[in-house]
Amino acid sequence: MVPPRRKTLEVARRDESVLKLEGRLVLLVDDDRAVLELLRRGLEPQGYRFVEAEDGTQALTAIRKHHPDLILMDVEMPGLGGVEVCRIVKANQGAGFAFTPVILMTAGRSSGKVEGLELGADDYLIKPFDMLELSARVKSMLRLKALQDTLVEKNKELDRINHELEEKRAALEQLSRTDGLTGLVNRRHFEERLAAEWARSERYRAPLSCLLLDIDHFKKVNDTWGHPFGDIVLKEVAKVARRALRDVDVIARYGGEEIIALLPETSPDEAWRAAERVRMGVEAMRLTCRTVEPPEQVRCTASIGVATAPAPTVESAEQLVQLADECLYEAKQGGRNQVRQALAE
Ligand code: GH3
Ligand code: MG
Ligand code: MG
Ligand code: MG
Repeated sequence: MVPPRRKTLEVARRDESVLKLEGRLVLLVDDDRAVLELLRRGLEPQGYRFVEAEDGTQALTAIRKHHPDLILMDVEMPGLGGVEVCRIVKANQGAGFAFTPVILMTAGRSSGKVEGLELGADDYLIKPFDMLELSARVKSMLRLKALQDTLVEKNKELDRINHELEEKRAALEQLSRTDGLTGLVNRRHFEERLAAEWARSERYRAPLSCLLLDIDHFKKVNDTWGHPFGDIVLKEVAKVARRALRDVDVIARYGGEEIIALLPETSPDEAWRAAERVRMGVEAMRLTCRTVEPPEQVRCTASIGVATAPAPTVESAEQLVQLADECLYEAKQGGRNQVRQALAE
C-alpha cells in the first residue's frame, strides 16, 4: 500500500509537470529595441524561450512560423500596430492559429488600451511597467495557455476514445447477431429482418421468398465422422448458401442444421432457381475427413422448402416460414436432396 501522503505528492508533481512553464515560447514585439532587451532580461530568469519582432508584420510572420505560447506586444508601432495584430490573431483563433494569449503594452493612458481589451487582448500593461508585475502577468497568461493546451490534448484523447468505443460497439452489435459456428446471422436477428422485410413487401406489394434448408441424414454424418466433422460440413453448407444467393438475401442459421434464407423482391420462379443453386452446390461439395486413416471423401445433400408471398394461405411472416417448412417436409418425404415449392393455385 502506498501511504496516502505520498500519493498526494505524486499527483501534485504530475500537475506541476503538465503546467510546466519553463521552455515556453514568448513572442516579444516592440519597435523599440531597448524595450525588447529590457523584457528579455526581465523574463529570462523564468527559463522561457523568446522570439522577437520589431513591427506588426514581423510579428505575424513569427506567429505563423513559431506558434508562440504568449505574445507580449507594443500597441504603438509604425505600420501595423499591436491592436491590429491582436485583432488578426483573435479572428483566426481556432482556424489558422491556436489559442494564443496576447498582452498589449501601451504608453500612458492612451485609447489603445481599451480598444485592445475590446478586441480580445487578454491583458494589458502600461509603460513604463514594473518588472515584477510584468513577470507575474506573463506567468499567469502562460499558465492559462498551458491549461488550454492540456484541454485540447484531453479533448483529442476523448475523441479518440469515443471513436474506439463506437468501433467496439459496432463490433459487439455485429457479434450479437452472428452465429458463432457458421458466421451467418442468428435466428433472433433473422426474426427482426423477417418482420421488416414482410412489412416492406406488403407496403410495396413486392414478392418475398423464403428458403428453408435441412441437411439430409445429418445424424449419420455425426455418427460416422464425428461431431467436429459435422460442424465442418455445416460451415461448408453455409458457405455454399452464401455463394449461391445475393448479398441482399438474409441467410441465417435457423436451428441445429437448418439454414433459412429470405429473398426480397424474388418471384417464385427466381426463388426456385436460387434453391436449386444451393441444393446443387451442396451436392457438389467434396469434403475430406482426416480423422480417419486413410482420409475419406465425404459427400452430403440437403432438402429445401420454398415459399413465396403473396400467396392465398400466407397472411403473416410466420405463415410464410410455416409454408416453407411444410415444403421442406415434403422434400424429405419425397426422398431428400430435392427442392419443393408451394405453388399458388
Ligand atoms: P433428415 O434427413 O431427416 O433431416 O435426417 P437428420 O439426421 O438430419 O435428422 P435431423 O435433421 O432431425 O437431425 C439433426 C441432427 O443434427 C441432430 C444433431 O445431432 C445434429 N446437429 C444439430 N446441430 C448441430 C451442430 O451444430 N453441429 C453438429 N455437428 N451437429 C448438429
Ligand atoms: Mg512603440
Ligand atoms: Mg433438422
Ligand atoms: Mg437433417
